[in-house]
Amino acid sequence: MNVNVVEAAKEIIRVGTTAGLSKDVIDLLEKKLWLLTDEMSLLVKKNAELVAKASALETENSNLRAQIQNLQPVTGTFNEYGGVLWKRTASGFEKFPYCKECAHHPVMMGMPPNRRAMFWQCPSGHTAPFQDFPAK
Ligand SMILES: [Zn+2]
Repeated sequence: MNVNVVEAAKEIIRVGTTAGLSKDVIDLLEKKLWLLTDEMSLLVKKNAELVAKASALETENSNLRAQIQNLQPVTGTFNEYGGVLWKRTASGFEKFPYCKECAHHPVMMGMPPNRRAMFWQCPSGHTAPFQDFPAK
């Protein structure tokens, strides 16, 4: 049990005794104090169990996130989808894809420009159907 709690309980009994309370009252207070310290002891134990459980779940969650990350289809640093390559960002994927056909994977532009694109096109003329990476 928490030593400070036991010391506090003893101190309360001592104060009650020196304040001139009757033995009946002090006995009653003492019983109630021990009930409280017992309850507190259970709660401290329960709390320690919950902290340990939360820590284990955080570790498990972290491991599962790493596994999910590893399951993403990856070509080098790219994710292939819809016939083009996408680069991951902290919050999702970049706005424009990269050409899968060209060896140096240049950025593709939406064509025709300045409109909602109908297809992606790289500088060498490779094309792919226009679509965003899913879940955007
Ligand atoms: Zn290309």
